[in-house]
Amino acid sequence: MLLDKFHNRYIVKGTIVAETPIHIGAGNESIDPVETDNAVIKDKDGKPYIPGSSLKGALRSWLETFLRGSGSKLVGEKKPCLIVDKPCIDPSDKEIKKWLEEIKEKYEGKDDADRFVAEEIYRKLCPICRVFGSHYFASKITINDCRLKDEKTYIETRDRVAIDRDTGTASQGKKYDFEQVAAGTKFDFYMTADNLDEENEKILKIIIKVLESGNFTVGGKTSIGLGRIKLCDAKVYRIDQNSLESYLFNGLSEEMGWQYV
Ligand SMILES: [Zn+2]
Repeated sequence: MLLDKFHNRYIVKGTIVAETPIHIGAGNESIDPVETDNAVIKDKDGKPYIPGSSLKGALRSWLETFLRGSGSKLVGEKKPCLIVDKPCIDPSDKEIKKWLEEIKEKYEGKDDADRFVAEEIYRKLCPICRVFGSHYFASKITINDCRLKDEKTYIETRDRVAIDRDTGTASQGKKYDFEQVAAGTKFDFYMTADNLDEENEKILKIIIKVLESGNFTVGGKTSIGLGRIKLCDAKVYRIDQNSLESYLFNGLSEEMGWQYV
């Protein structure tokens, strides 16, 4: 299912709880020795948040790893690609370029030619690219930035002993510090997914399940236990052509609730 007309929309709402402290870096490492070396990302009001793009990126790479391994039989026939290293349709690949020219020729001059070409490309994509997007298609899912649920913010500064890069041991007297958002901090979670078919739906279910498991990590320093988050109080809705009017005029209702277990 492509995105050119409305078929359905899924909305996932809930609360993300930091099970362990989170460090999502602001990407502006300071050289001022008095300042914290590694600040967490904050919004314009100085409040930390989880960027939707970080969460989506982390989910994509987790799915790539998981579905290429033990979960490979769960979703479709095609093996998920590694979008960064080797996309399933690589625009720089000679064979792919030839194939694209061939399908364009095949439909040239026909009504709806663009749509037929798009459908052929979509069929060739792996199950993850179909949902998360590729060089050829927009993503079917969006995740909003997860903003703080409470007014209070809990940012801690943590000292670490610097490791000597040459010897691999703690270098004497050297320390660096970084900020982390405290465990227990709560964020709003809001995600949408459009025009999912049965195969795409499975991926959405896996996403919700792994977020609910409390074993999913975001951000940096996960090797020292940081970044574990858990989705709580999740509510999932499905809007289709029959409920679209009601959704547009009155918003979400219980009847739109979708069972994802
Ligand atoms: Zn792919």
